Amino acid sequence: MSDNQTNPSLVEVLPLGGYDLPLTYGTKSSLFVDLEVGSLVRIPLGVRRVTGIVSSISPKHAPPREKLRFISALVQPEPVLSQELVELAKWVSSYYASSLESTLGAMIPSSVRDGMLAKKRRMIEVVQVSDEKVVELLARSPKQMQAYQFLKRTEGEKVDAVNWAKKAGVSASVLDGLIQKGLVEETISEVDREAYGDDWSEKDVESVESLRELTAEQKQATHEILSDLDTGEFRARLLQGVTGSGKTEVYCQAMEKVLLAGGGVLFLVPEVALAPQTVDRLRSRFGKMGERVVVWHSHLSAGERVDAWRNLVQGKAKIVVGARSAIFAPVQNLKLVVVDEEHEQAYKQEDSPRYHGRDVAVYRSFLNQAVCLLGSATPSLETVRNVERGKYQKSILSKRIDGRELPLVHLIDMRREALKQKVPPVLSQPLIEALRQRYQNREQSILFLNRRGFNTTMFCTECGEVEQCRDCSIAMTYHRTDHYLHCHLCGYRKPAPQICGNCQSLDIRKKGHGTQRIEDLVEAVMPRKARVVRVDADVMTKKNLFREILSDFRKGKIDVLVGTQMIAKGLDFPRVTLVGVIDADLPLRMEDFRASERAFQILVQVAGRAGRGDRAGEVYVQTYAPHESCIQFARRAELDEFLEEELAMRKELRYPPYRHLIRHVFRGRGEDKTRFYAEQWRRKLDESSLDGVEIKGPAATPLAKIKGYYRYHLFYLSSSVQNCLRQIKEVRNEFPLDKEVFDILDVDAYQVS
Ligand code: ADP
Ligand code: ZN
Ligand code: ZN
Repeated sequence: MSDNQTNPSLVEVLPLGGYDLPLTYGTKSSLFVDLEVGSLVRIPLGVRRVTGIVSSISPKHAPPREKLRFISALVQPEPVLSQELVELAKWVSSYYASSLESTLGAMIPSSVRDGMLAKKRRMIEVVQVSDEKVVELLARSPKQMQAYQFLKRTEGEKVDAVNWAKKAGVSASVLDGLIQKGLVEETISEVDREAYGDDWSEKDVESVESLRELTAEQKQATHEILSDLDTGEFRARLLQGVTGSGKTEVYCQAMEKVLLAGGGVLFLVPEVALAPQTVDRLRSRFGKMGERVVVWHSHLSAGERVDAWRNLVQGKAKIVVGARSAIFAPVQNLKLVVVDEEHEQAYKQEDSPRYHGRDVAVYRSFLNQAVCLLGSATPSLETVRNVERGKYQKSILSKRIDGRELPLVHLIDMRREALKQKVPPVLSQPLIEALRQRYQNREQSILFLNRRGFNTTMFCTECGEVEQCRDCSIAMTYHRTDHYLHCHLCGYRKPAPQICGNCQSLDIRKKGHGTQRIEDLVEAVMPRKARVVRVDADVMTKKNLFREILSDFRKGKIDVLVGTQMIAKGLDFPRVTLVGVIDADLPLRMEDFRASERAFQILVQVAGRAGRGDRAGEVYVQTYAPHESCIQFARRAELDEFLEEELAMRKELRYPPYRHLIRHVFRGRGEDKTRFYAEQWRRKLDESSLDGVEIKGPAATPLAKIKGYYRYHLFYLSSSVQNCLRQIKEVRNEFPLDKEVFDILDVDAYQVS
């Protein structure tokens, strides 16, 4: 429209509040000058007031004048989204089939959206004037005189106005009077609420982080990455390095180069729990260069969030460390993205938008022509496949630092342990003895337990056989309600067997045990003075408890650390010489085609926690399936051999990474109704004969009912997400769903329960 130019005070705004299309608003010219694409504004929408993002300052549509509504305020002085992040949001919402609104919700911290501003501090300072002048100005105001005399003691210093007024017992009006008369000067400064700037920071990392000679392999990898950076173009690279091979040092080399050139760096860690360790390491390393490291994840206070955000937006900080959601942090001039432990499933978000942090990292790097570095000792099959196809490059660190050995891994055959004792023990005799031995030697141990609370599957304590689906090659799940085994991929079910199908043994079981119980058992078998501490999800809910525990462990105040996933990753404790794995094959008993991959990764990662100091480490792995190839490969740390076998299996079934997996969940309060719609949907899909999409299901989900909702799911396997989603959406548009049944698409799904 031609009057766009002549009428510049119109802008297009995308409301964040249940309306997924941009609308045109008017704005006063005084406000218009402050608006940019990405500005967060408050707007009227219907009878409500909501926030919205300015999506264009030259709108294509102008509503008739009498209908035009006006922006009421600008919420944050700086734009909350750059052009680049707007592009990223569009991609995320289209690839992961999520609304733009929910995507923006994930990108912009809620405290920023709520208009929380930087915390201001009023500082005051006495102005130098002659005594005569003071008397002249204050003779008739005794209160001001008294206050002035009090403040004069701090001459030459800036003091906090609020604290001072409290101490001096003066009111704000007295202070204002002094300022008006020019006897006191005030300045306003922004206060930084910095996460982890406290006592639990591990100051002793400083000495470790001082400069040192890189190993030959580190030099080679660094060289390769620096050449990537030199191209000034997008590159993705896998840094495949065994545990303890010094990957972090290589990341730091790349970071240094980027920072010196004024670029920004994003550093992703899989769990919030791992952020402090990395933050401390990077702060001690880059603090000297005058660089600030900000922390970004969901456990920050609203204030810390806003300040981290503001420091990045204003370019005051160029490094951000955080879990998944940090991939959306507003880093300026982004040149490097590091994804540490890239294989971790924690990078996948399980609520809308269901994005994968690593894959968004790669795409964001592409948008910025930046370098994306994916690090792992046990890379995901997706990444390995991308290297194979030439989409990513690869650098390798094959040796541990200082020629330290990978730990010796012993497999404990729990079938034999079960025979020796009447009931299958939780802790085997060899593991108990090893624990006691370490305690006597004043060495530390870690006991690792796979995350519990998953469904039971049936396995044979004689031969280790796990009941599998005839069509899907995944373990079947036992349902207590009907005593049937169910396949949650295709819906196939059969009665729970009484005897093992493989060896005819009667001893087939369904069982699990939690961290609490392990802690008690360990305490019972250890000498009384030994300190055993448990880390699990409960610990994580208390703000600094986990960091406190890690700090105690590092100082040697704890002898045995018992925990789940979160102690398996990335942690570096030099005095740990024993790692015990209670139930290595638990992932294998889960109904997931990624079970072997996960079992392998967890074992190798856990083993990697041992023997990082001068003394060699040992790992005891309790398993009912010592012959399973993933366990054997993990024992010998044979990554390539494992990958080869696992890729071949996936290729044969054409599972990811050979095709994309999209999960479609139907959810409703009524079981029959939900199943009915899922089945109708399948019928509808069959009629529509989709192109290039294989459909499985519907089947009841493993956790059939969650929070009162029944759930049925289907799986689509396709080589193109875009092609698959387009067809699904077309059919879905002509498929009216009951208003009590909801459906959700999960692209590149990991969760199948
Ligand atoms: P990874 O992440 O590959 O498991 P880390 O980066 O944690 O390994 O390094 C393992 C240990 O080796 C750390 O304590 C680190 O400080 C140390 N380290 C790394 N590079 C070197 C080097 N070139 N010389 C000496 N020690 C190093
Ligand atoms: Zn058997
Ligand atoms: Zn099946």
